Amino acid sequence: MVFGTLRQVNDLRYCPVRTHGFRYSDSGRVMKAKLEEMLQVAQAAIEQADCESALQDVRVRFLGKKGEMTAIMRGMGQLPPDERPLVGALANEVKQQLEQIFDSRLEQVRHADIERRLEQERLDVTLPGRRHPRGTKHPITLVTEEITEIFASLGFGVEEGPEVEKDFYNFEALNIPKDHPARDMQDTFYVNDDVVLRTHTSPVQIRTMLRQAPPVRVIAPGTVYRRDSDITHSPMFHQIEGFLVDRKVTFGDLKGILTTFINQFFGRGVGVRFRPSFFPFTEPSAEVDIQCVICGGSGCRVCKNTGWLEILGSGMIDPEVFKSVEYDPEVYSGFAFGMGIERVAMLKYGVNDLRLFFENDLRFLNQF
Ligand SMILES: [Zn+2]
Repeated sequence: MVFGTLRQVNDLRYCPVRTHGFRYSDSGRVMKAKLEEMLQVAQAAIEQADCESALQDVRVRFLGKKGEMTAIMRGMGQLPPDERPLVGALANEVKQQLEQIFDSRLEQVRHADIERRLEQERLDVTLPGRRHPRGTKHPITLVTEEITEIFASLGFGVEEGPEVEKDFYNFEALNIPKDHPARDMQDTFYVNDDVVLRTHTSPVQIRTMLRQAPPVRVIAPGTVYRRDSDITHSPMFHQIEGFLVDRKVTFGDLKGILTTFINQFFGRGVGVRFRPSFFPFTEPSAEVDIQCVICGGSGCRVCKNTGWLEILGSGMIDPEVFKSVEYDPEVYSGFAFGMGIERVAMLKYGVNDLRLFFENDLRFLNQF
């Protein structure tokens, strides 16, 4: 029998030590009475304690270092020497009995606690399960995938590169030396003098071209960083960069590929225009605009009444860039383009504040 019952506790009630008619002194009688009284009180307290912590409190109160037993035993010094062993034996017996009663009650309380918990935590197999909310892909991921798929259908592979990039790949090899004004427009976060968080995905161009000989036909989506923050700029944003290098690639190829992409992404029939521009790593360079998707070209706040929206930058790769990757500019030509993924996502979904993409507000994100 592991668990005691109340009856067993009662069976342990104190039977006085046999003293063979010994006559105690007054102080001896007082101590004996105190011990017997304490035993009664402690026993009642133990029986009342209904949980383990209450039981431990009772134990400390009577048997602890500063407990009642210790207090009574302080009177030992006042006893005649021949009484001391008898009172000591009595105290020991009281103590042992209390320990037994205590242990027995402890088993009871623990057992009752297990029973109670089993009752409370019984598994209800008929209870319906809790549904976990299903997430959706982030709009930036959706747009990146859609753009990647369109270019994949045009024969472009996907390349990735490091976000923490050497100055050489991010600037120097792209024809942007240390004193070039374009560095101000792309002010970024420096890890040290020679290492930056990349300001564009263009270093992937350099890394790819250093690794492989033409022909190359690659797009590089990824995260980039600049020191900008307002409703259309975030210090962390995403770009997709594409480039194609082969023999006899012309500006006509550039226009053909980008027009095909725009028609697939924004819908056939949207107006496209190529506007001369400047980038250090392409020559000639062009910004590509589409007819405003909000007003259809008649002019509105989004297009600043021009009827056009700029969506990407492009151009024929500068021969200087080819030299830094040891491609022969007499044999090969190519074009490159890059666009901000947030910008095209804003246009596609009609989002008016770029920061919404990164605030992690589920009311916004659940709409995609
Ligand atoms: Zn407009």
